[in-house]
Amino acid sequence: MGLKIVYGPVPSKRLGRSLGIDVIRTDNKKNCNFDCVYCQLGHTDFKVSYPENVEGLVTTQEAINALVKHKNRIIDVDYITFSGTCEPTLNLEIGNMIKQIKNITHVPVCVITNSSLMERKDVRQNLLNSDLVIATLVTGFEETFKAINRPYPGIKLENIINGLEKFSKQKNQNKKTELAIEIMLIESKESFPMNTTECEIDKLIEVTKRINPDRIELLTVNRPPAENHIIPVSDEKLKQISDKFTSVFGSEKVELTFANSKKKVSKYTHKNLNDDIYSLISRRPCTFEQICDSLGAENDKVKSSLEKLIKDNKLITIDSGNYIYYKTKSATN
Ligand code: SF4
Repeated sequence: MGLKIVYGPVPSKRLGRSLGIDVIRTDNKKNCNFDCVYCQLGHTDFKVSYPENVEGLVTTQEAINALVKHKNRIIDVDYITFSGTCEPTLNLEIGNMIKQIKNITHVPVCVITNSSLMERKDVRQNLLNSDLVIATLVTGFEETFKAINRPYPGIKLENIINGLEKFSKQKNQNKKTELAIEIMLIESKESFPMNTTECEIDKLIEVTKRINPDRIELLTVNRPPAENHIIPVSDEKLKQISDKFTSVFGSEKVELTFANSKKKVSKYTHKNLNDDIYSLISRRPCTFEQICDSLGAENDKVKSSLEKLIKDNKLITIDSGNYIYYKTKSATN
């Protein structure tokens, strides 16, 4: 079972029900220019550098054909989202893809990026076609960035922050695109540079002020991370950090997502539920409840599909301590 270009809808705490587009063919392996310690997809199989060196790029025509083929899935989704098993800005056709999507649907388009290529003018130009850009930032310190995001050599945090600053100014001119900065907060069971200390939070506030986004989204790990020692930040501490951001940016700009919040979705009839479950889980491990909620499928049907996929050696279960997650077998090898 290879990965499809269009997948989902998938559950998203921030975006509700989101139809995903993957713009790099990965053969069920994770390609990224980061290898984040908190990544829900596990370790990066191929650490890639820059768009010019990436293989398996999906073309605009392929992406549009795939979307048209799954047009029935666009009904009831809140967003069409570029995300998936790789960093979407590595595909420089993404700007064209967004323009063409706008010709076939009014559903807003979101790009979730790790911000790594924001220093590039062509990447910023591509992103200006979208309705929403969610850009990740975990720290204002170069050393913490290297420890948490483990970027491809040569990618510098200062360039990322400068790029985000430039993008924010550009999008303020065209007033079409919204910029949200997503701050993933993590703690560790071991001695590891965490981004929740007072010094880290002060620095994060300082660089976020420089960037001047429309929204700031604070969240923590809620799926099994790549490194076992990484743990979620407690609700209490998240609230304290959120209060600090709110006192600087105002409550209307700051959004805090606790690990267990979710949005309700409507029921949906699946032509091939096994395929849809596999496709969903390939992008992110999910609990039973998350699968049912995401796909709008009945519990009994999801249960028998999961049993079949496990029997066929396609899925495994992992126990995070609090929840049982379903994960694709090949993504763990
Ligand atoms: S969290 Fe995102 S940016 Fe980080 S390794 Fe995973 S896919 Fe790449």
